[in-house]
Amino acid sequence: MPKPVYLDYHATTPVDPRVLDAMLPYFTEAFGNPASRQHAYGWQADEAVVHARGEVASLIGATAGEIVFTSGATESNNLAIKGAAHACRDRGDHVVTVATEHKSVLDSFKKLERDGWRVTWLGVDSDGFVRLDELRNAVTDKTVLVSVMAANNEIGVLQPLAEIGAIVGAAGALLHTDAAQAAGKVPIDVNAMGIDLLSLTGHKYYGPKGAGALYVRRKKPRIQLACQIDGGGHEQGLRSGTLNVPGIVGLGRAAAICRAEMLVESTRLAALRDRLLEGLRRELDGLRVNGSLERRLPHNLHVSFEKVEGESLLMALGDLAVSTGSACSSGSQAPSHVLQAIGAVGDQAGASIRFGLGRSTTDAHVDFAIERVTTVVKSLRRAMAAQ
Ligand SMILES: *Cc1c(COP(=O)(O)O)cnc(C)c1O
Repeated sequence: MPKPVYLDYHATTPVDPRVLDAMLPYFTEAFGNPASRQHAYGWQADEAVVHARGEVASLIGATAGEIVFTSGATESNNLAIKGAAHACRDRGDHVVTVATEHKSVLDSFKKLERDGWRVTWLGVDSDGFVRLDELRNAVTDKTVLVSVMAANNEIGVLQPLAEIGAIVGAAGALLHTDAAQAAGKVPIDVNAMGIDLLSLTGHKYYGPKGAGALYVRRKKPRIQLACQIDGGGHEQGLRSGTLNVPGIVGLGRAAAICRAEMLVESTRLAALRDRLLEGLRRELDGLRVNGSLERRLPHNLHVSFEKVEGESLLMALGDLAVSTGSACSSGSQAPSHVLQAIGAVGDQAGASIRFGLGRSTTDAHVDFAIERVTTVVKSLRRAMAAQ
């Protein structure tokens, strides 16, 4: 087993070999610019982009004409949030988001706040969910945009998007969702869920880094966005710049693979995740799962260990590539804003680990993780008790 064992699939995923195979010709012999309308090099590249657009659209129940290619979810979030707010400025000055969002969403809203928009920052309950009555009370006829992530990148909680979509739609506002963690992992249907704008990124679902997309609803209603990158008018004028053809081909192929394999793979990963949790619970007490266990990504587990200090845990877990964080504000690491929002921080909160399982994760990897974590946590607790 190569070390460290990679259990950090929320940070990024490797490119699937089938995706790489699809991409490679577009670096070399099929290198054309899809904007070149006069010759076969351009037509060939354009054909590949058209095909990928359809594959990305199919993953989320959209149509090809509703997909705008970007450099990733950070850019998609910026374009969706700033683009929609600026385009709707004459209709209202109020926007809504949630405390547990990704930094690229939170900082886009902070920018809007500095530029004169009124922002409502919704909290979440102890399971990590947006409270629907709080959302209902927040939206008014001055609300133009609500942004709620599909799946949280730390605790994996899946927000009730269909219910949120109904509330936002009834208020006449637009719903944006950051689906960087959810796309390709759990079913998403932009129409059934009432989603108007959706961000996704290739490197979270076994595609390449630096390739992503923004879904922009074209019908009922047709959404206007203020473009954030001016230039040659690519992507229906919403995002100028020569298309990253190999990246886009990879984004599309990765979407098609996820769509075909989602059901089987998510069942497999949920069983592995449950094996991991059962193993940790069998060996350790003073363990808390952060976020709802019922409605979360199948491959995510986020646990806090009481009476353990974050930095020592990180140092002792060298054979595991996981993301660790402090749930306790006394250490030098600041507690995560997500754990803060669910009320899982404080002097007794201990240290936490985010496990993200993925395509190459096996029983043996999970058993190794259980053994490493239980050994380290027990020894850190013994050392602490001896002080
Ligand atoms: C990774 C991630 C992003 C950023 O995506 P990039 O493509 O790396 O810019 C945004 N939101 C969430 C929830 C993420 O997990």
